[in-house]
Amino acid sequence: MSDALTPQEMAFACGGCETPLFQSKDIITTILSGAMGKSLLVRNPTNIAFSSGEKEIRLTTGMHRTRDIECLTCHKPLGWYYVKAYEADQKFKEGAYLIEKALLVPVKPQAAPSVFSFLWKQ
Ligand SMILES: [Zn+2]
Repeated sequence: MSDALTPQEMAFACGGCETPLFQSKDIITTILSGAMGKSLLVRNPTNIAFSSGEKEIRLTTGMHRTRDIECLTCHKPLGWYYVKAYEADQKFKEGAYLIEKALLVPVKPQAAPSVFSFLWKQ
């Protein structure tokens, strides 16, 4: 018998206004490095708006065409959207959103906060 949460139960919100953005099931990977450190690659987030047109950026993984994204509610910058990846091994990013982990807050309505805080820090 364990009270540990499964990753599927976790949800994440904007750190500025706590507008819900996505659930852990929408996370493709957590190992990407964004401008501010560890980031999440996310599929189909909600309450996100584009804050720039398309632009070409060079990352350690090669050239990408991206658009900046922000919170729909408070307009805080959150990361960017991958329009196109030029390297074959980076194509999985196309159509996905890179969101800085530092700009998010975890939300978990059903579990004890202490349990959730422990998982979040891992
Ligand atoms: Zn916000």
